[in-house]
Amino acid sequence: MEKEKEENGCAITVMYGCVIITMDHHLRVFKDGAIVIHLDRIKAIGHSQQILSDFSHLADHLIDLTGHVILPGLINTHVHTSQQLARGIADDVDLVTWLHHRIWPYESAMSQHDSYLSTLLCGIELIHSGVTCFAEAGGQHVSGMASAVELLGLRACLTQSTMDSGHGLPSSWASRTTQDCIQSQKDSYHKYNNTAQGRIRIWFGIRQIMNSTENLLLQTRDAAAQLNTGIHMHVAEIPYENQLVVDVHKVNHGTVTYLDKIHFLQNNLLAAHSVWVDDNEISLLSKAGVKVSHCPAAAMRMLGFAPVREMLGAGICVSLGTDGAPSNNRMSIVDEMYLASLINKGREVFANGTTDPTALSAETILKMVTVNGAKSVQWDDELGSLEVGKKADIVVVNPSTWTMVPVHDCISNMVYCMRTENVVSVMCNGLWIMKDKKIINVDEEEVILKAKQASAELLKRAGIQLPTRMNFI
Ligand SMILES: [Zn+2]
Repeated sequence: MEKEKEENGCAITVMYGCVIITMDHHLRVFKDGAIVIHLDRIKAIGHSQQILSDFSHLADHLIDLTGHVILPGLINTHVHTSQQLARGIADDVDLVTWLHHRIWPYESAMSQHDSYLSTLLCGIELIHSGVTCFAEAGGQHVSGMASAVELLGLRACLTQSTMDSGHGLPSSWASRTTQDCIQSQKDSYHKYNNTAQGRIRIWFGIRQIMNSTENLLLQTRDAAAQLNTGIHMHVAEIPYENQLVVDVHKVNHGTVTYLDKIHFLQNNLLAAHSVWVDDNEISLLSKAGVKVSHCPAAAMRMLGFAPVREMLGAGICVSLGTDGAPSNNRMSIVDEMYLASLINKGREVFANGTTDPTALSAETILKMVTVNGAKSVQWDDELGSLEVGKKADIVVVNPSTWTMVPVHDCISNMVYCMRTENVVSVMCNGLWIMKDKKIINVDEEEVILKAKQASAELLKRAGIQLPTRMNFI
């Protein structure tokens, strides 16, 4: 560990001899590129020959990455880190069972230490898939999540799961007032925002419209504006949600129409899923500058086909998320890239009556997990592309495996062929957090062992009994 820290502490690192997909404004790709890292930022980027001639004598570390591909750190814009210990507790069940009988009892029984372990386990999986930054969708115990993110070396926008009304809430949550919800988030903001060398930011959260009073929505909007931070909310997930909003708030469509009516739609809102939105609502989201996180696997599990092509066409910044382990099981943004392209090409049959293989091209998908991801977490001044002055958040891919060879087109190869296993090293904020597939800052095996124990105890404490499907003997 000490040796790793020493290696991590070097002032100037030069990586050369690799393909560099910059995702900059001109979408430049260096065939034989090099990048210079000084402390936590990118100092130079260019052709290997030029960079080596200018910087090799200054480098503390010269890394030959011949045969590799470098990408900007990938950004996962919808993750439930607190749900990682609940992977597999709600497979093949309807949404009400999923929420009321599995997830809420699980989350309401979590201790701070459970949140910490769950975030460690989730973070390990995120790093293996090349993620350097994620947006938490709303978890339990911000303190536990923040400690884990700090230790892993990741970057995150953390939010607390926030609800002040609704049916079926566990008793420990039912007594939470609107004021409690706002105050605890303000407290978290003042305690953790801009901590961990600036890698942690604190956002406000709204779990979903069905568990929020109008007062909570308005106070959240104003508090986030006052602190100049973001809001993360599940929006228009299922038709039932829209119908409830129509019935209760007397608007002519669903959640987005209502949120527009109360002036909640702002450019600091990250709306997750947004599956059930009509053309007018797409236009409302676009006009307000709302960002949308598309989670293809979770959408296919429980929600439906989101109109991603239409949203992108309307100018909405759409990024990608995995959602949580109980709604996806696989927390790999690499898998989501592949799925996002396939699902949205296939959806054309339903949307326009014919297939269209040009829908959501590989470049578009790669933008969604880099440039659009950075805009979605309001960090595009420092993240999302490999450019001089930006943060050194970098993914190193080894494409020389049976999964990816031959590489004729490196962009399409990254989206259609890459597997999580092709990600070999990950740097965040100028420090390696995974090197040669080894997580640097925590003992992966130890976390897995502790997470297994904590998950079993948590389920017992929450009274969750999973039905036996097979004749286990
Ligand atoms: Zn979610």
